[in-house]
Amino acid sequence: MLGFGMAKGFRVTLRNFLRKPFTTQYPEERLPQHPRFRGQEFTWYEERCTGCASCAKYCPLGIIRIVTGPDGGNEQEGGSYSIDVFDIDQARCMYCGLCVEACPYDALHMGTNFEAAQERREDLVITVDDLRAREKRPSAWFRPQLAKEQFDPYAENADWKRVGREPYFWHPNRPEWQPEEQAQQASADGDYEG
Ligand code: SF4
Ligand code: SF4
Repeated sequence: MLGFGMAKGFRVTLRNFLRKPFTTQYPEERLPQHPRFRGQEFTWYEERCTGCASCAKYCPLGIIRIVTGPDGGNEQEGGSYSIDVFDIDQARCMYCGLCVEACPYDALHMGTNFEAAQERREDLVITVDDLRAREKRPSAWFRPQLAKEQFDPYAENADWKRVGREPYFWHPNRPEWQPEEQAQQASADGDYEG
């Protein structure tokens, strides 16, 4: 019918004209973020990282660069690598998370920040020192152990013991390991049979 489309259009205009605005005045106001939000940046735990470079091999864009050295300590137990370089070129990252999925030791996690804008492309490269210095607020994405215990990365940090899928005393050579803590953790993980 002639004019019917126009009337429909006006109806939409009128409905939205009377609706209360729902614009969020960022950055003064912020919307709540889900713990599984995959943000810019990464959270990395050096205590868990073996330097195996699985994350770098799985990255489809080849933007993770890892250089290790044979002086990471624990020589009597076979040695471990020091991580000398761990660069992630955020400028090319698509936040697919494949590197996080590939990490066998839960050392690399997606981050929760999204406000890391820079003026120069080279400043978008995350270095090993950046990773070391950053707050430990990992995304719960692909980390069901964090989701299960309702970890909230916007309210708290998580240390390396907390972010693994296995009880942390499976890493007896780590510097923070203490026998009393082992006992406490074993009783907390009642379902563990080791
Ligand atoms: S999130 Fe994807 S693109 Fe980015 S570093 Fe990891 S694997 Fe590469
Ligand atoms: S972050 Fe994980 S996958 Fe990458 S080098 Fe370290 S242990 Fe290996």
